[in-house]
Amino acid sequence: MEILFLGTSSMVPTKERNQSGVLISYRNEGILVDCGEGTQRQLKISGAKLTSITKILISHWHGDHILGLPGLIQSMSTSNYDKTLRIYGPLGTKKFMKKMFEVFVFDKRVDIEVNDVRKGKFFENGNFILKAAPLKHNVETLGYSLIEKDRRRINLKFTKKMNIPEGPLLGRLQGGKSIVWKGKKIDVDKATYKIEGKKVTIISDTVPCKGADILAKDSDLLICESTYSSELENKGREYSHMTSKQAAELAKHSKTKKLILTHFSARYKDTNPLKKDARGYFDNVLCASDFMKIDL
Ligand SMILES: [Zn+2]
Ligand SMILES: [Zn+2]
Repeated sequence: MEILFLGTSSMVPTKERNQSGVLISYRNEGILVDCGEGTQRQLKISGAKLTSITKILISHWHGDHILGLPGLIQSMSTSNYDKTLRIYGPLGTKKFMKKMFEVFVFDKRVDIEVNDVRKGKFFENGNFILKAAPLKHNVETLGYSLIEKDRRRINLKFTKKMNIPEGPLLGRLQGGKSIVWKGKKIDVDKATYKIEGKKVTIISDTVPCKGADILAKDSDLLICESTYSSELENKGREYSHMTSKQAAELAKHSKTKKLILTHFSARYKDTNPLKKDARGYFDNVLCASDFMKIDL
């Protein structure tokens, strides 16, 4: 899984930071979380292809998280995008998308499916699950988790020793089922080993809340908004945003392994003070910058 930061600013972009956008590339999926103004250009600069995007998750309909949508979709229309683009967002997303297409002269050649999401699991396939939970901002806002399913790998040493041939029997073991081979029961836990799936959580604009706690729990990677440092906690409360300290506390009590801060106020030219602020409460923390890539 690769995570690419396309934008790390809050409402007002800076020379160094574009508005919000994170691209998660996983198997044949390209999951774009939020699409601030300029996201398609950020994708171009990063070398990622527009056509690699399969899903867009919208946290909320504040401009800095969605202003890039019309441009992105317009460009997709001209680039032979031949899949169904699935868009998920909080209640109202269907209505807002419809209105957005009404105000532009669009030659919409992309097949788009828009889904309003409340909470809980809203997508599942054989490899991963997508979950949402409501956050506490001043409009309907969702946080998201991508939860990879555990996988089994064949213990080849064992299966070779037992002379189990390649083919459907190994397939059954990989699928988590014990088998019978030459009249003998082969225990799946001996013939395979488990690879634990990873969990990535993205908490966008919010103040500390239950939804963030639920999603962040046991994340391998928590990407969390940190608009301000703890000195400006009052501002955070006023505008419904988190501080770096609050993000670090969330990472700590949710038993997250790694925390990446993002969505920085334009007042911070240098984000080191935010990292320092967070480090007082949680060690494994980084500040995101535009085009930063993380392999998980
Ligand atoms: Zn924002
Ligand atoms: Zn917002």
